[in-house]
Amino acid sequence: MRLIFLGKPGSGKGTQARAITQAYGIPAVATGDLIRAAISGETELGQQFKGYTSKGLLVPDELVLAMVAERLENDDCSGGFLLDGFPRTEPQADGLQAMLTKVEAPLDAVLYLKVPDDILVERAVGRRVCKESGSVYHVKFNPPKVEGVCDVSGKALVHRDDDKEDVVVRRLKEYDEKTSPLIEYYKKQGKLLEVDGVGSFEEIEQRIKGVLQSVNGAG
Ligand code: AMP
Repeated sequence: MRLIFLGKPGSGKGTQARAITQAYGIPAVATGDLIRAAISGETELGQQFKGYTSKGLLVPDELVLAMVAERLENDDCSGGFLLDGFPRTEPQADGLQAMLTKVEAPLDAVLYLKVPDDILVERAVGRRVCKESGSVYHVKFNPPKVEGVCDVSGKALVHRDDDKEDVVVRRLKEYDEKTSPLIEYYKKQGKLLEVDGVGSFEEIEQRIKGVLQSVNGAG
């Protein structure tokens, strides 16, 4: 199953993506994670990325497209994948379409997790992540057993720089300007599946599984 997962920053997309990929046995390809890995690897490309991410701005399309093209060529993506945080602009969506057309592997569906902006700011500002295990917590809605410590790895949790309030507001603006047009883009292709993203983790997971039942390849 080849899926795109659209949702604003803080929509709970990353957490749900993990559940979907486990349920369907496909890898999650999260451009935010690939970009953060390049930044912490202190590569030259990572330095360029940091100049954008630290300000809440999008990384240029050609850099992201090259990174995704390379990742999708990995064997683990041959049976499908879930794209998380990509595409984020129309040129990225066009680039993806060209890549998939070339290998005759069309998208099955585009999930869109809908959450109002005020809830998003509260979620992102309270979000804490573990760099080791990839676990995601929230200081109020989903706290770890011990404050500031990952339940899985025992390592200290971090508040991502781009989850700080001013950066979150900037990221939401970027989303409205550059990513929102993709809703129409995929609606026109008849691929868009909208899911209400307000509720408990389990409720949202069930809604997602419900809409995915209608999708080719979900069987
Ligand atoms: P995320 O974890 O998906 O919210 O991504 C964190 C940051 O990485 C974003 O705020 C952007 O600066 C950058 N980024 C991630 N995915 C993309 C993308 N598809 N296009 C451009 N920039 C991206």
